Amino acid sequence: MRKQGSNAEQILNALRKLTAYLNSMERNPSGFGEDKTTWFKYPLKIISETLLFNVSVLYRVSNIINDRLILEVVKVVDPGAMRMDLQEGRKLRLFLDVRDKRYVNEVHAFLNKKTSHIKVIGMGCDIIGYVYFPENFGGIYLVGGDFTGKERGLQDFEISAMEIMCNLLSSIIMKTMFEQKAEYDDLTGLYNSGKIKEEVEKIILRFKRKPYASAVLAMGDIDFFKSVNDNYGHIQGDFVLKEVGRIISNSMRECFDLAGRYGGEEFLIIFEDSDIQGGFEVVERLRQLIENHDFPIVERNGTTIKNKTMNVTMSFGLSLTTGNDKSVTSTDWIAKADNALYQSKNNGRNQTTVYQENSGIK
Ligand code: GH3
Ligand code: MG
Ligand code: MG
Repeated sequence: MRKQGSNAEQILNALRKLTAYLNSMERNPSGFGEDKTTWFKYPLKIISETLLFNVSVLYRVSNIINDRLILEVVKVVDPGAMRMDLQEGRKLRLFLDVRDKRYVNEVHAFLNKKTSHIKVIGMGCDIIGYVYFPENFGGIYLVGGDFTGKERGLQDFEISAMEIMCNLLSSIIMKTMFEQKAEYDDLTGLYNSGKIKEEVEKIILRFKRKPYASAVLAMGDIDFFKSVNDNYGHIQGDFVLKEVGRIISNSMRECFDLAGRYGGEEFLIIFEDSDIQGGFEVVERLRQLIENHDFPIVERNGTTIKNKTMNVTMSFGLSLTTGNDKSVTSTDWIAKADNALYQSKNNGRNQTTVYQENSGIK
């Protein structure tokens, strides 16, 4: 069998579709989802269906130990079962001096940080592209195709297609990552304070068009959080913040739209199109969830200690704004929620207070 000539126009069309697919991907607020390899579904398909390789494969560079490159086989499309060495989940240990001719292009792509398509006599033709992601997104991936029949040099446009695919993937994923960084809080995964304030602002602007609409803002603050740090250390403090973020985030899907970390241990939640009663009920439930949650104790290295837990409580303040409050600014609205929170703290903490004009607290 000889590798058939692929059709340049078909490849271009496939690349166009890949661009559109990647551009239309919705951003996932809690990261990129568990299975990052879904991003590679299209490229692997393009490699087998349009570039006409027998096998398409995705590797993750998992390590380099001495003179060996360790590749994890993440995904394989091998309908003819031609490459028994490429099993998903398997780790390949390749000598960097390319002793094993089967993986010449894998090693070269890795070492030179670019697509490799070196022809090795008797080995069929193959091509491996290089995709770089920052370390916290999984580092370096290699993606490519293998044709196990008679070798024939690859055509220039096939090589360019592989390079374009790799660039598309890394640039779009990086762009999305930077956008995430600008909007989300690293520790809790919720919106950061800049973004949540921007969202409050947007609601005020929307009110100008929707005079009958109303929304509720909740400000929450962990009680005696300083003593968590003092008694258990900063790592435990961070862990508690993370867990509180997760509890808020879980409630968010069911009961409200937006939540962010406003400051150190302060959170803002927005209930759009809600009345004060609706917001109050949800926040009370959230407050009780936190009160009843057993927070695991973590060691310095981040592992949890079995059967050892601690508890924290949280206080909340709520403030309603409607489209009729013509002069209200986002700063006023947040200040009112903060005033109500202050009242919860004053009255003994672990409770929810609704802001009322003329309450005497300013
Ligand atoms: P109150 O019930 O009145 O809110 O008491 P509090 O101790 O929670 O409030 P205070 O404002 O006195 O202390 C807040 C503490 O939160 C102090 C600060 O060190 C801690 N903190 C703020 N941000 C972080 C963070 O990102 N990680 C950790 N571990 N601690 C933080
Ligand atoms: Mg506090
Ligand atoms: Mg505070």
